[in-house]
Amino acid sequence: MSIKELEEALSSIGEPKYRAKQIFLWLHKKYVQSFDEMLNLSKNLREKLKENYYISDSAIEKKLISCYDSTVKYLFSLNDGEYVEAVLMSYHHGYSACISTQAGCKMGCTFCATGQGGFRRSLTAGEMLSQLQTMEKDRNVRISNVVLMGMGEPLDNYDNVIKFLHLVSDDDGMNIGMRHIAVSTCGLADKIRALADLKLQITLSVSLHAPNDEIRSATMPVNKRFPIDELLSSCREYADKTGRRITFEYAMIAEVNDSITCAAELCSRLKGMLCHVNLIPVNEVDKTGYKKSGKKSLNAFCDYLNSHGIPATIRRTLGSDINASCGQLRGRVKDAES
Ligand code: SAH
Ligand code: SF4
Repeated sequence: MSIKELEEALSSIGEPKYRAKQIFLWLHKKYVQSFDEMLNLSKNLREKLKENYYISDSAIEKKLISCYDSTVKYLFSLNDGEYVEAVLMSYHHGYSACISTQAGCKMGCTFCATGQGGFRRSLTAGEMLSQLQTMEKDRNVRISNVVLMGMGEPLDNYDNVIKFLHLVSDDDGMNIGMRHIAVSTCGLADKIRALADLKLQITLSVSLHAPNDEIRSATMPVNKRFPIDELLSSCREYADKTGRRITFEYAMIAEVNDSITCAAELCSRLKGMLCHVNLIPVNEVDKTGYKKSGKKSLNAFCDYLNSHGIPATIRRTLGSDINASCGQLRGRVKDAES
């Protein structure tokens, strides 16, 4: 809840408004897990809160630490027993956390472990925050950057994600500025347009992964709803309205989307847009059958984009020994359980 919502909730149980800020600080600065820890509240109020409310928790169900680069992958269980994944990465400039916005995903991308595992439910803003808080407590660190690139499609959970962005960047909260947050989407063009109107300072990452409708529709079913032309026109609108550079994610899959013809097609599509292309060798997820592109194809693709006016880089992969990519860990736990 925002401070305003807390004030309204308190009024409805006959409590003064100034308690809202106190409760907000306990939740967002001290990360308390029970109302009993809120020591400056009266016992009576704590009891009322216990009766009417709960505090979201992301309990650590499983934790894997990479022996290469100390990336930590978490499997969390939420209050109702749903599982989500998150990853904590250490960079020279600080800690970056990748968190989930939904348990599962409806979008069904063929290369993605989450997409193949089906949809359970959307997460609340509090559940997104609690993933960050649990990681900070567990590793005794401060997170400086957040990416919404874990399980789920953030823009399919639009209202809760917007609420999360405001809460996490609040001065009285975790105080992580919007410039340090990236939201990744598979391309819900209508929601990209809505987001553009909010003019937030976040980075928008768009998972493009293909230069034309034929390849994109075969790997990303969402493309049938929002074909590339429509998606890219919403992206242009976003860049124009916000003045922010869009990042296009492009997972390189051997013999699917990694030819120079694909690179040329991509260049002509992105021409003139304020953007950057991130090339990622696809993570080989069990059962999908996709293979990652070789170094040679990756470099040739990257060089082609750069020499034709589209800034591109090859993304370094972290945590490759711990199934750190989206949805892989939950998938394994579910397989092991069945
Ligand atoms: N649903 C959002 C955000 C979560 S997925 C989206 O699709 O953008 C985060 C990123 O991981 C996306 O760019 C997605 O395309 C990518 N991804 C999913 N499976 C992958 C895989 N096997 N290898 C590489 N990237 C993958
Ligand atoms: Fe969902 Fe993103 Fe995975 Fe596609 S890539 S299935 S949108 S989580």
